[in-house]
Amino acid sequence: MYGSSLAASASSTAAFGKRLFVYEVEGLSQNGQTESTNYPIRRSGTTKIVVPYSRMNKEMRRITRLGGKIVSIKPLSDDSQTTAATAPSNQPQQSNTAKNKSMTQAKAKPKDIPVNIYRPKNPFMGKCVENYELVEEGGVGTVRHLTFDISEGDLRYLEGQSIGIIPPGEDDRGKPHKLRLYSIASTRHGDRVDDKTISLCVRQLEYEDPDTGKTVYGVCSSYLCNLEEGAENVAMMGPVGKEMLLPPDEDATIIMLATGTGIAPFRAYLWRMFKEQHEDYKFKGLAWLIFGIPKTPNILYKEELEELAQKYPDNFRLTYAISREQKNADGGKMYVQSRVIEYADQIFEMLQKPKTHLYMCGLKGMEPPINETFTEEAQKRGINWDDFRKQMKKDDRLHIEVY
Ligand code: FAD
Repeated sequence: MYGSSLAASASSTAAFGKRLFVYEVEGLSQNGQTESTNYPIRRSGTTKIVVPYSRMNKEMRRITRLGGKIVSIKPLSDDSQTTAATAPSNQPQQSNTAKNKSMTQAKAKPKDIPVNIYRPKNPFMGKCVENYELVEEGGVGTVRHLTFDISEGDLRYLEGQSIGIIPPGEDDRGKPHKLRLYSIASTRHGDRVDDKTISLCVRQLEYEDPDTGKTVYGVCSSYLCNLEEGAENVAMMGPVGKEMLLPPDEDATIIMLATGTGIAPFRAYLWRMFKEQHEDYKFKGLAWLIFGIPKTPNILYKEELEELAQKYPDNFRLTYAISREQKNADGGKMYVQSRVIEYADQIFEMLQKPKTHLYMCGLKGMEPPINETFTEEAQKRGINWDDFRKQMKKDDRLHIEVY
């Protein structure tokens, strides 16, 4: 019965090239499969259905109607096409072998990721060459853009990595301060595009001590925010982190959800995508930044972001969530998660495509409500968000760094 389907699969594979996807479906009735004009590949427990890109949504609705649950969606890679076309129909097929690795997964991580070139015992001593305020008049708090000269050492990094800073001095117990991590805000080539600098975006931590009522300032963030231009011996280590790397795929859809200084890695991505010219990376996909801040003067890198949005309307979409100025649909404050609710349908459609990556960076509090929204949105489509999220993670399409 499946032989003809598989033969059809082989010929349609040729016709659609790489624009074929495999839905792995649980709980789909045998009738549901055979009624399909698609090309089911059976294995025990779940059913695999090959779907052309143009029919993805339609097929998703059909599966839901038939009571099925989509466990994963992957592009039909060259290798798995061969498997689909030649494997005996009644043989169980492995779902997660290297052969079935999605294209995104295979291409997701750049090669040669530098990590821990410098360690706390042997830090790199950087020189601050720039330190300016990013919050405009009337905004809340202090956020500074800092650039350090790294021309002397061997410090290298990629967009999305972080750097450790050890503030000078000792803590309350007389011990040297521990390092604090900061997301790198520049591309690997640095703000001057000469491979000689690294930039950070640092908010000075400031809060009222609940016991004394006194204002307390964070140790490391205050140290950095108050650095003079020309200050030397800033102890840096790293780089660290592989979670937030940008995929080398030029056609990817990159959804970025940021709060406050969570913009740092996304600034680096956007500069790499649109401001710099590279032989080996010419971004042609879609980048969508949803940026949460309290007030308009707190929109970090506002001018540059808006310039990019204006210059590249087909490739860069910029959405603000300004909590103290805008209202959400329920009349409450407009947070990043409110925008995610507003665009949930669109975002979820995008997430179902294998070239889409979802990034979250910034305040810890943003993650639970966003998860809740995706849970509901997935349910509407008969998808279990927890499973879907796990699969996205496996495919290296979900990247979260909250602090
Ligand atoms: P500390 O002197 O270490 O004070 C922090 C402590 O103050 C907390 O542990 C808590 O005990 C207390 N505290 C804080 N707020 C309150 C409050 N409201 N009420 C009572 N007590 C409170 N920060 C950035 O600015 N930019 C970045 O790009 C950035 N990237 C990061 C990336 C990663 C992966 C991580 C983990 C963190 C990142 N951070 C970033 C946060 C940064 O590492 C520091 O935590 C931050 O700068 C505060 O350090 P500090 O030394 O100034 O504060």
